[in-house]
Amino acid sequence: MKKNSILLIGTNNKGKLKEIRELLPKSIKTKSTTDFNLKSPKENGSTFEENSIIKSKYFSNKTKLLCLSDDSGLEIDLLNKMPGIYSSRWSGKKNDFNKAIRKIYTELNKKDKNWKKKKIKARFICVLSISLLSKKIALVKGKVEGFISSKPKGKNGFGYDPIFIPKKYKKTFGEMSPLKKYKIDHRYQAFKKIKKFL
Ligand code: IMP
Repeated sequence: MKKNSILLIGTNNKGKLKEIRELLPKSIKTKSTTDFNLKSPKENGSTFEENSIIKSKYFSNKTKLLCLSDDSGLEIDLLNKMPGIYSSRWSGKKNDFNKAIRKIYTELNKKDKNWKKKKIKARFICVLSISLLSKKIALVKGKVEGFISSKPKGKNGFGYDPIFIPKKYKKTFGEMSPLKKYKIDHRYQAFKKIKKFL
């Protein structure tokens, strides 16, 4: 990025915004979508990649700024990789993640009554994209593998953090300190790959 240029962080999700700001070098000046009072576009793509680009192009065209957007979600193998790109939609119009988590437990119970005694493989995916107007500048994917906790634990983070235990750890993301989570999660893995474009 040129000196003194501004990067728009193209998300209306406060949890993502906080985390992306933490990951970016302090020398990069940022703006958020709320600074411009922008609503999110319809995410009608069929992959994380398509939805990430829909957002970065949309917000860049609205502001004329270089825009970094994230599309992310949780894939659960036993649920055929659901909720996946529907992760946000499972929380309903009010973004109620207690509801989304209940839905996950209901679906797991339907698939296997004994799932709590098993290791339920899951992963968080994050696709970051950078666009300038309608031009895609970069597109990268990061992931973190893990398991679903048999009950929600911890009050940190956002979204599905209370039910995700990353591989090689005992605590859920919801129980970890934010700075610890930021150093291992899917967004950080994607960020390492996109840094060179900034
Ligand atoms: P979208 O990318 O705006 O479609 O939303 C992705 C959804 O996935 C978010 O609303 C979160 O619920 C979930 N998600 C993505 N990243 C994380 C994370 O780091 N922790 C917990 N939930 C996440």
